[in-house]
Amino acid sequence: MMVIKIGGGRDLNLDGLCREIARRHSAGERTILVHGGAETTDELAAALGHPAQYVTSPSGHVSRRTDRRTLEIFEMAYCGQINKGLVERLQRLGVDAVGLSGLDGALLRGPRKDTLRVVEDGRVRVLRDDFTGKVEQVNTRLLHLLLAAGYLPVLTPPALSYQGEAINVDGDRAAAAVATALGADTLLLLTSAPGLLRAFPDETSLLPSLTANQLLIAFDYAKGKMKRKVLAAQEAIHGGVAHVIIGDGRVSQPLQAAMAGNGTHILQSSAMAQTQVNHAS
Ligand code: ADP
Repeated sequence: MMVIKIGGGRDLNLDGLCREIARRHSAGERTILVHGGAETTDELAAALGHPAQYVTSPSGHVSRRTDRRTLEIFEMAYCGQINKGLVERLQRLGVDAVGLSGLDGALLRGPRKDTLRVVEDGRVRVLRDDFTGKVEQVNTRLLHLLLAAGYLPVLTPPALSYQGEAINVDGDRAAAAVATALGADTLLLLTSAPGLLRAFPDETSLLPSLTANQLLIAFDYAKGKMKRKVLAAQEAIHGGVAHVIIGDGRVSQPLQAAMAGNGTHILQSSAMAQTQVNHAS
């Protein structure tokens, strides 16, 4: 079983990837696609007169400010345009794809952050009306039902909070939670870079492989959104996923290129059984 995560970058080769996914699917190999959509959300938010805002936590993490209106716009982009666009592409290729958000069938559940501490003009402010959180539980029963019936799930944030609210969650970490909960062999994180670079943006500084123990060093190299991918890789590896690849989504055959050894390959050095995601029964 493979979980593939794609971001929302316009330069990703979605046609090529969907053709590869269709080939995998028709060969009977189980695949789950998870996607993001930050760029489309930003564009839509600007067009709707509620421009995107990003906030920085005291530890330096940058995240989307998700008030209720932003959450609605986020859903229009992620659950609407992007999810349905991918389902349409896959259906056109003969794949019976089913698009689901984390809300549907309580597929992705977790806590909403009660408060969000952000740094503004050097001062820490506390936000209470933010809808963000993280995934702790995955409804594996629903995913197994779909997979067993030959459907290909196309999954997207938001997730469902324990109080029943939609929450913005990081797509890479959600994909890691899905891969962990399903016991996937491989998590492939496709991005707009050749993999993890030691000296971003120098594309010749690619780190071809890392063990779980070396992941801590990888945090020092990753900037911006790449930090989340390294965190997701770490969570998946600690959750028992044997192989995580940060691969280039811009090439003609992103899946084949990653499986042939391109990108950054992160492997378990030893069998680590620590599970960070509670498996839903
Ligand atoms: P998403 O796939 O979630 O849309 P991105 O592709 O924008 O996210 O996130 C990864 C981006 O992070 C890369 O495209 C690259 O611009 C940037 N980046 C920062 N640090 C690094 C690094 N060390 N190696 C590779 N890319 C990096």
